[in-house]
Amino acid sequence: MTRRRWIADQWDEASAALIGAQAEHLARVLRVRVGQEFDIVAGGVVRRGMVEAVHPNAVRFQLLEAIESAASLPLTCVLSIFKFDRYEWAVEKLTELGIATIVPVIARRTEKHLAQAAEARVERWRRIAREAAQQSRRTDVPIIADPVALEKMELPTQGAWDLLLSEVEEETTLWAALEKNLEQRAALSAVHLAIGPVGGWTEPEMQWFGQQRWQSVSLGPRILRAETAAIATASILAAWLEEMRAGK
Ligand code: SAM
Repeated sequence: MTRRRWIADQWDEASAALIGAQAEHLARVLRVRVGQEFDIVAGGVVRRGMVEAVHPNAVRFQLLEAIESAASLPLTCVLSIFKFDRYEWAVEKLTELGIATIVPVIARRTEKHLAQAAEARVERWRRIAREAAQQSRRTDVPIIADPVALEKMELPTQGAWDLLLSEVEEETTLWAALEKNLEQRAALSAVHLAIGPVGGWTEPEMQWFGQQRWQSVSLGPRILRAETAAIATASILAAWLEEMRAGK
């Protein structure tokens, strides 16, 4: 039987707890009882957890044996900020696809009011990522970084492959780049993908990426919405990385 999965707020060797909103949902809405079992993610490991105590604001579990489960993929999405309803959808879907980190970026063509409101939205994006991680049975919650202006962004670069998704790239498709990099795949520490805002990247931004040695790639001649481009690219990269994990 598939047990519902929760990511613990607090844990030690033998026990774990959900607190605040998660606990309230479990206690009040799902009417959880002592003795019920769930999958509990504690410190990146999934274990069978039996409910020991239920309070309105805290549910405590005894942690039992570990359960095999998949970790996130070494994938970071530099995601320019766009309309929030679509952004939330992108955060949810990227989480389901196994992304490790999302960096919300203020690009030159990010609408001003969105750039100003982004800071206050991060906690909501983090909540969405947490719920999607639980629902998709991940062992971890992706990191949602604080919003940052593109040129101030700092990513760990050692051993990573940086891919700039560009609708004006005419030479290199994402697929061709992946095929070419097949031999190096196992040595990569991470893959970073950058998705532009609704208005696309500006010329100075493209130059900045070039100076930082990002490789520009295309998804073909159709212009995709930013969220479509993000999900499509993450799906292709996830399949490429999973294949390597499977030892192929
Ligand atoms: N304003 C641009 C235009 O109409 O030409 C479109 C920008 S698009 C909505 C937003 C972002 O999605 C782009 O900056 C790029 O990162 C990504 N994207 C969309 N279509 C793409 C494609 N065919 N190839 C690569 N990236 C694409």
